[in-house]
Amino acid sequence: MFKVNVSNILDNNKSQENFSFSILNLSRNIDLLGPLSVSGKAIVRGSSVIVYFRIKGNERVTCDKCLDFFECDIDREFSQEYVQNDLDDSDNLEGLAGFLVDDKGNIDLEKAIIEEISINDLNLNLCSDSCKGLCPKCGLNLNKNKCSCYNNKEGDNPFAKLSKLKEK
Ligand SMILES: [Zn+2]
Ligand SMILES: [Zn+2]
Repeated sequence: MFKVNVSNILDNNKSQENFSFSILNLSRNIDLLGPLSVSGKAIVRGSSVIVYFRIKGNERVTCDKCLDFFECDIDREFSQEYVQNDLDDSDNLEGLAGFLVDDKGNIDLEKAIIEEISINDLNLNLCSDSCKGLCPKCGLNLNKNKCSCYNNKEGDNPFAKLSKLKEK
């Protein structure tokens, strides 16, 4: 839980609440390399609190082509709306779990940060633009190894044999 208290902006004592901290562990699915720095501000808009985030760090992700791990920069800005938990509308509140201002004026920033990083992890992650991936036949990582599956002319390529016959 990474809580920020927004009572002061809800009570109009301040126009914005700034925050800055670093996170070492976030979620089992996000492999942070070193601390993730989180900073930003919260402001009130109507009956909601809008939080503007800036997150910076490094994570270890899997290449979708060669399945090897590589280091990926995290450097993003995003915002999230938090709704005050004084509505008598429990149906509506259910969908907002994790995005509420509690009765003490606290908001928990963890879920928004995890979602932001996880959504990006759903994109195609490549260790490099020139990643050769895995050999579809033997499964070797072609960035590190050379297999003979498609170099061997005697292999699966029927035309290789034909060209040999012609040479004779
Ligand atoms: Zn790769
Ligand atoms: Zn192969």
